[in-house]
Amino acid sequence: MSALFRHLPSVDSVLSSLAAAGEFDSLPRPLVKGLVNDFLDVCREEVRSGLLTEPAQLELAALLPRLAAFVRAGARPHFRRVLNATGVVIHTNLGRSLLAKSAIEAVAEACGHYSNCEFDLKTGKRGSRYSHVEGILCEITGAEAAMVVNNNAAAVFIMLETLARGREVIVSRGQLVEIGGSFRIPDVMAKSGAVLREVGATNRTHIHDFENAIGDDTGALMRVHTSNFRVVGFTSEVTLAQMRALGDKYGLPVIEDLGSGTLYALEGEGLLGEPTVQQVVAQGADVVSFSGDKVLGGPQAGVIVGRREYIDRIKKNPVNRAMRIDKMTLAALEATLRLYLDMDEARQQVPTLKMVTASQEALKSKARRLADAIRVRLGGKAAVAMHKGVSRVGGGAFPEYDLPGTVVTVAVESIAADDLRDALLKTDPPLVARIEDGVFLLDPRTLNSTELKLAADSLAQAVSALARK
Ligand SMILES: *Cc1c(COP(=O)(O)O)cnc(C)c1O
Repeated sequence: MSALFRHLPSVDSVLSSLAAAGEFDSLPRPLVKGLVNDFLDVCREEVRSGLLTEPAQLELAALLPRLAAFVRAGARPHFRRVLNATGVVIHTNLGRSLLAKSAIEAVAEACGHYSNCEFDLKTGKRGSRYSHVEGILCEITGAEAAMVVNNNAAAVFIMLETLARGREVIVSRGQLVEIGGSFRIPDVMAKSGAVLREVGATNRTHIHDFENAIGDDTGALMRVHTSNFRVVGFTSEVTLAQMRALGDKYGLPVIEDLGSGTLYALEGEGLLGEPTVQQVVAQGADVVSFSGDKVLGGPQAGVIVGRREYIDRIKKNPVNRAMRIDKMTLAALEATLRLYLDMDEARQQVPTLKMVTASQEALKSKARRLADAIRVRLGGKAAVAMHKGVSRVGGGAFPEYDLPGTVVTVAVESIAADDLRDALLKTDPPLVARIEDGVFLLDPRTLNSTELKLAADSLAQAVSALARK
């Protein structure tokens, strides 16, 4: 065995042969060297376990194709593009919303150059970073004032910390939600120093439940959007109008965590049950928060809009500095919001809205092109078919609401659906798909038209990798 080890090429000889081939010239040399060492360790392990037995198998020329693939795979950045064929438009694990073209350009401009990020071009003095988005947020939502922090979780925290620290916040039991990723309203409230006062029952809460709980310690009345579940059957929730009236009677602010928050009225698209931010502001919520990267379709951010006296206090909270939004996000958010000045433009340009509102014909035509591309790449090996199917908005918006569309099922001879799905995570680019009732399927809603061929190509890579096993 030790005699066999001597046939393994040296690191230096491998490196000079790779250098001669030139493929890895753009990679840092220490990175390549480390990967070559790792690869040679793998070979030694294979000698020990009897997988490699002949000197000829250990020659550089024989190892080179595997070695190159090993270095290529190992040198890839950890953060990578993937193809989302799940049909979940706002998929938090896959990065939530894609930015509109104008927003992508604004980000590139913001990070490649100096900017007036926090500089007032009228006075030449320090300016406010919120100035870039406050005016447009007020114009679109009808609110008096606005600000932004890093995400909606931070927005909820800072609203409570500023307006109700050390005091009670009254919330309906039916709205004490957990969003996932350990964001739970009761826990966030505890951390903010506000005291949760839950009222009502899980399925029914009435305005007198709120009124009975009001006392000297009450700091605010709060509503939380039940983003990711529905209470059905014998149910009753207090309306915002009722809460507004109660807030006025006792001089208490009404806070609303709207969760996803949409600026575009999706009711017209048949998606019911989610109010727009404009409606919530018009109905009198004092402070409203929502995510930038859910249905809004912008960058990760937490937007807070509402009455000036409250927003000003939130802006002055020192905690704000720890949640400060960065210049790339600001640039992307402003560009995204500008699209909403014309709702038709927003619908066409904001990828999230475009995917959520895609027409049946558009989805069918995309499914057909995807199916064709897969047939071309896989030939007779695969049974490819189009079926009616459903997608989801995701991101805690419109829970349990099916978006009808067309999906493409793929069955490959002697390959299990699970194995195909797993092998697709290792292709370039990786592809994330769905299995439903044991059937492997791709939902074209979340693939753009240039990604259909890439998806077919990833499938071909996965199938050939499985065939080699
Ligand atoms: C998603 C959500 C949040 C958290 O928002 P992030 O932007 O993910 O931080 C908070 N509250 C509700 C109701 C949500 O749906």
